[in-house]
Amino acid sequence: MSDNSHRIESIKNLKQDEWEDIRNGVINLCNNFPGEYWRNLDSDRKYPEEFVKALTEAGYLACLIPEEYGGSGLPIQAACVILEEIQRSGGNGAACHAQMYIMGALLRHGSKEQKDKYLPKISSGELRLQAFGVTEPDAGTDTLSIRTSAKKTDAGYIVNGQKVWTSRAEYSDLMLLLARTSSEERVKRTEGLSLFIIDMQKAKNEGLSIKPIKTMINHATTEVFFDDLEIPFESLIGEEGKGFKYILDGMNAERILIAAECIGDAKFFLDKSTEYASSREVFGRPIGQNQGIQFPIARSYADMEAASLMVDRAANLFDKSIACGAEANMAKLLSSEASWKAAEAAMQTFGGYGFAEDYDIERKFRETRLYQTAPISTNLILAFIAQNILGLKRSY
Ligand SMILES: Cc1cc2nc3c(=O)[nH]c(=O)nc-3n(C[C@H](O)[C@H](O)[C@H](O)COP(=O)(O)OP(=O)(O)OC[C@H]3O[C@@H](n4cnc5c(N)ncnc54)[C@H](O)[C@@H]3O)c2cc1C
Repeated sequence: MSDNSHRIESIKNLKQDEWEDIRNGVINLCNNFPGEYWRNLDSDRKYPEEFVKALTEAGYLACLIPEEYGGSGLPIQAACVILEEIQRSGGNGAACHAQMYIMGALLRHGSKEQKDKYLPKISSGELRLQAFGVTEPDAGTDTLSIRTSAKKTDAGYIVNGQKVWTSRAEYSDLMLLLARTSSEERVKRTEGLSLFIIDMQKAKNEGLSIKPIKTMINHATTEVFFDDLEIPFESLIGEEGKGFKYILDGMNAERILIAAECIGDAKFFLDKSTEYASSREVFGRPIGQNQGIQFPIARSYADMEAASLMVDRAANLFDKSIACGAEANMAKLLSSEASWKAAEAAMQTFGGYGFAEDYDIERKFRETRLYQTAPISTNLILAFIAQNILGLKRSY
């Protein structure tokens, strides 16, 4: 490890010392899943079953679930450490990260029966809640325009419609589904949507079908179709018409956790860049002695550190139940840009070898790009800051 890597390590520990045991545990676990493991999955477009199993068995995926439901009831800061270390190791937490934040809707708004039924099994790994069906082909970012409907009947609801980009649907037992329960004309726009928990294994034989989407990363994302799928009344989470509000409630957690992943990605690239720049010699000296190589790495280190402070601030506020929409959004914006800059610096540092699969740079380069688009794109965060923080006129 280079001197610079030691420095990054020590600063990181200074900021998050209280989670050292968790960090070391995750580092040890990830050591069993080296670059080669992720590389092979990437080229075969396979789901990291063994990794998700190991993470679940170690209890990390249930860290935010309260102890009474079999989790460890830790604050979001601990979850940030877990996801950051997975990404820093060269792995990809996207295979399972959603479980950490989407179970929040069930926890906060589910009935006692729903929580008793699902949360202990999610904690133990018996059930996976990995699929989150919100985005639709026509609505895109404009969630309030979704058209997938859940029509009330005497026996429950009948679901019809289509979702797109529903990641991990093939590998999940349960899905959180946002569907329209009232037409846009009948109620206030924000009150026409409801949230449901769907037993996907059962639904697959009764009107739910899944079509994988090939993408530039190994993300197991899909289109999901609903054709007269009957679901019981007990599938509804909370009150009918409050689904959009419930989804919004969970967004801060989602933003903060994804931001922590981006910090992990940035650290992965910084570790790799400094190591390679120190060891690769061209023209009789290490390439890292050239300022043209040093400066982009140094700048992306500064960007990563600044973004990391915002992630810490957002997580701290979140754990104290203080409003943190601004900080969570800024954390996601800054850290996704910091990881992208670090990826770009690594690509340049590695020269031709950055393109060779064996170095993992090109794979992580592709993977980290996602976070400027999903779960929310950079533009929409900028619009949020402009409108909600700076009081500028709404642009859409
Ligand atoms: C790999 C992957 C996994 C995903 N996983 C999930 C998942 O599990 N569940 C789920 O529900 N969704 C998921 N998504 C969807 C993701 O959240 C959306 O792709 C994202 O929100 C953007 O929606 P869109 O692709 O329809 O883009 P669009 O809404 O069509 O937007 C296209 C571009 O226009 C910009 N734009 C749109 N409106 C404005 C405006 N008013 N001002 C400025 N710019 C604007 C956007 O920022 C974007 O850059 C995933 C997406 C990907 C690619």
